[in-house]
Amino acid sequence: MRKIISLLGKPCAGKGTRLRQFLEGKEEQYMVVSCGEALREEVENETILGRQAKHYMDAGKLIPDYIIINLVLNQIRKAPEDVSLILDGFPRTLEQAEAALECEMGITHVVNLVVSDAEAISRSESRIICKKCGESYTQKMFKMPKKEGICDKCGGKLVKRSDDKPEIIEERLKIFNIYTAPAIDRMKASGVEYLEIESTF
Ligand code: ADP
Repeated sequence: MRKIISLLGKPCAGKGTRLRQFLEGKEEQYMVVSCGEALREEVENETILGRQAKHYMDAGKLIPDYIIINLVLNQIRKAPEDVSLILDGFPRTLEQAEAALECEMGITHVVNLVVSDAEAISRSESRIICKKCGESYTQKMFKMPKKEGICDKCGGKLVKRSDDKPEIIEERLKIFNIYTAPAIDRMKASGVEYLEIESTF
């Protein structure tokens, strides 16, 4: 049966890293809808959506719900029926969770990667990501590239995310605790399969 998995967790919980590990050898069975990656691409390409989104992302704020809901719905509609989907970073607010349930997006599982605020802050300080493939490196987790500034996987350039500054990370954590925690509770209460994983690596 087709699965639609919602992958959630605080900033720096390691969603991207876990996802890449999970997908190894299963790339053909799954399609990933990553809200953050899709938005970063829009910003990079300086589209109208990208210009609107940058303003929110740089401040560590969430993008308005109607934009995200449409973005995710379009991706789900585009996906072949026999391919399972991973919704990376959706739903992040109660309104997004309600929309997911009302529009019958068909979410079957919620995976919640759990990490403390202190650990997330500490990881974010040394996190750099690949501009090309999204791979992330963190000194804190003893994961650094072999060649400074270059991604081991694809040779892409490693950069600091503009929203990984300490004051912005604190804002993103605050937003997670206020908005995303209730969205996770709502999805849990809806009866989907719920899995909580301690993010230790
Ligand atoms: P992180 O999980 O580390 O915050 P993401 O790459 O998932 O990183 O998201 C980066 C930014 O993209 C968020 O801070 C937010 O501005 C925006 N974003 C991603 N997903 C959503 C969503 N579901 N709703 C609103 N904004 C989102």
